[in-house]
Amino acid sequence: MSNLVQEKIDAYKKLLQKIIAYEEAINLMDWDLKTVAPKHSIEARSETIGVLSSEVFKISTSKEMEELLTFLLSSDKDYNLEPIVRRSLEEQKKEFDRYKRIPADKHQEFVVLTTKANNIWEEAKDAADFKLFQPYLQQVVQMLQEFTELWGYKEHPYDALLEMYEPGMTVKQLDIIFQGLKEALIPLVQEVAEKKAIIGDFLRLDYDLSKQKELNEFLVDQMGYDFQAGRLDPTVHPFQTTINRGDKRITTKYVHNDLTVSLFSTLHEAGHAIYEQSMDSQLDEWLLAEGASMGIHESQSLFWENIVGRSSEYWDYYYQKLISYFPEQLKTVTKDEFYRAINAMKASFIRIEADELTYHFHIILRYELEKELIAGNIQVKDLPKAWNDKMKEYLGVVPENDAQGVLQDMHWSDGSLGYFPSYSLGYLYAAQFTHQMGKELPEWKEQIKKGNLISIKEWYNEKIHRHGRCKTTNELVKEVTGEELNPDYLTAYLKEKINQLYQ
Ligand code: ZN
Repeated sequence: MSNLVQEKIDAYKKLLQKIIAYEEAINLMDWDLKTVAPKHSIEARSETIGVLSSEVFKISTSKEMEELLTFLLSSDKDYNLEPIVRRSLEEQKKEFDRYKRIPADKHQEFVVLTTKANNIWEEAKDAADFKLFQPYLQQVVQMLQEFTELWGYKEHPYDALLEMYEPGMTVKQLDIIFQGLKEALIPLVQEVAEKKAIIGDFLRLDYDLSKQKELNEFLVDQMGYDFQAGRLDPTVHPFQTTINRGDKRITTKYVHNDLTVSLFSTLHEAGHAIYEQSMDSQLDEWLLAEGASMGIHESQSLFWENIVGRSSEYWDYYYQKLISYFPEQLKTVTKDEFYRAINAMKASFIRIEADELTYHFHIILRYELEKELIAGNIQVKDLPKAWNDKMKEYLGVVPENDAQGVLQDMHWSDGSLGYFPSYSLGYLYAAQFTHQMGKELPEWKEQIKKGNLISIKEWYNEKIHRHGRCKTTNELVKEVTGEELNPDYLTAYLKEKINQLYQ
């Protein structure tokens, strides 16, 4: 490799180093804001984060970055770049193009609009009045329609939005996947609706918060989450964040009269964090120590939260531990009653409270509406009715007001249309990966029964985690499981679960 090429690579690395430093500062400030910062710091802190974010934007779209990317990726020369360097350059180039195609003033306008829209959305939700939010959402949709034209797409404008969260995924593929899921899962929803409802009132007794905290720390430690490279703190909306290589934090929400909120949020966020903790450290300096896609990241959190954390085998081992923390509340409850209660399936209005089965209809509904909004086939003003009609059709329930319906999620107010499908894809990937794990590690359920979670963690470390975003979603799925994404694995998983629960 010539000296000139090496010089360019070094210069490129220096730019990344700056981005990494800004991002560490931003993420730490953001974590602080969402956990321990006093209420009155919100305004100043948000401004500071805004200033630092615009620095990242400037570096990522700078003349220097452009020249380095153009030079190093020039197609008529072969510099024999290491694969990791090439991959990093390609990812940065995508980011560069994405930013550059939007005029700077439009970008700024969108940030201002979504900040405002987010505030108004909260008011509208409190008042259960979609009309307040409607004009803002209209502008958000309009701007995103413009952006999709600037970004470009092959077939459907919504593809340009999907690209941000699920690179390579298209409307054409999703339509087939979701149509298949609908056909497979609607009969299951009907089957469950006819069964006797599962009662789990004991989950809503008073559960001492400091005991919950001890329990949650114990459980994530058992999963192999490294407390020397992270921490667990309370927050309002649980999240996981990466500060740096040795610091992948998780948060949870403790509620005194609901044991399950902290329990499953913690397992979920720890799943994200274990992915982050297990990426090859050499990816860091190339900005490749990130999830392959939102859906793949979600597959890791959902694996721990549901496939492990809501399994009968997991509680075979951990239920006695749980009772030792809460003997009074659970003394008359059997493990089986507990297992059924945490898995109860029932159609409901609110996505984030939905069970593993009905959850997908919340996503399919949003996907179908978003897609038509972006294509201009539905108007924003018609959303509340379209929402309720679909709820009725898919789940047989109709929200009493907009707060329980069309206004429940924050995503549309901050412009993240295109994100929802990643949640369902996460379930699909998780089911498919786990099916493969069952072939390679046939005793995995027996291991869970004994409280040995490390072998399954290591399987995922090896197959998925270490690669960060060096492999695309398609490559991962194909290389790990030997086939393309196949929704049948999720359907089979859900059928088996329903049999166990409602026999
Ligand atoms: Zn998640």
